[in-house]
Amino acid sequence: MTRIDGRENGELRNIKITRNYIKHPEGSVLVEFGDTKVICTASIEDKVPPFLKGLGEGWITCEYGMIPCSTITRKPRDASKGKVDGRTMEIQRLIGRALRSVVDLTKIGERTIWIDCDVIQADGGTRTASITGAFVALVDAINKLNEQEKFQIYPIKNYIAAISVGILNEEVIIDLCYEEDSNAQVDMNVVMTDAGEFVEIQGTGEENPFTKTQMAKMMELAEEGINKLISIQKEVLGDDCLLIGTGGNLTN
Ligand code: UDP
Repeated sequence: MTRIDGRENGELRNIKITRNYIKHPEGSVLVEFGDTKVICTASIEDKVPPFLKGLGEGWITCEYGMIPCSTITRKPRDASKGKVDGRTMEIQRLIGRALRSVVDLTKIGERTIWIDCDVIQADGGTRTASITGAFVALVDAINKLNEQEKFQIYPIKNYIAAISVGILNEEVIIDLCYEEDSNAQVDMNVVMTDAGEFVEIQGTGEENPFTKTQMAKMMELAEEGINKLISIQKEVLGDDCLLIGTGGNLTN
């Protein structure tokens, strides 16, 4: 059975990553997973949260938001009355954990890298697009720091990307759009590195519990999809992503 947008079960949407998308932050990317579009930025601040003060290491943290007209029905800015709602909190923590997992924070000194993911158009998979795009913005921010401060720091251990998989009409599918996501029996988000190691797996079959066999099939599709996303990251970054071990340390 073909999907609503004509894709095969294991086919990703059209993926696009545009670097240097806005002017001010050190790293900025527009990431597109089909109609889902997220601006991911990475900005560097020369201080760390109090719990890390004096330890000589840095921190990476994330804020996530959706602009009012990113969703089908306009979502007013004050919908949460100034408070961060549960979904937003969950997503921003997930993005922060994912990025921290691939960075040696001792190599960035006492700095905080702020990742901001702003969804400008939501059509399912905003958290997975955010992680995939934010990684590229993070690499660019570290390159900018090296350029500005004449450092040579290579704190990135691995590439990282994320994708959604799920079960709809008993079929295991990848990269669900909103219509698929809202009708899916099972919804799962997978975060994986280029070493094939999983950093986070969020799977829910609240009304339709899933079997180990179905999970294995979802994981197989997720792994294939993430490998494709990482190839795209590698393609857009070219020689600009030097991983840890390539040489170089914080020089001053
Ligand atoms: N969505 C929405 N309004 C909301 C939250 C979600 O319209 O307040 C839509 C949006 O298209 C989003 C999709 O529902 O991408 C799936 O949301 P979910 O919470 O599963 O997160 P996502 O798949 O975006 O990571």
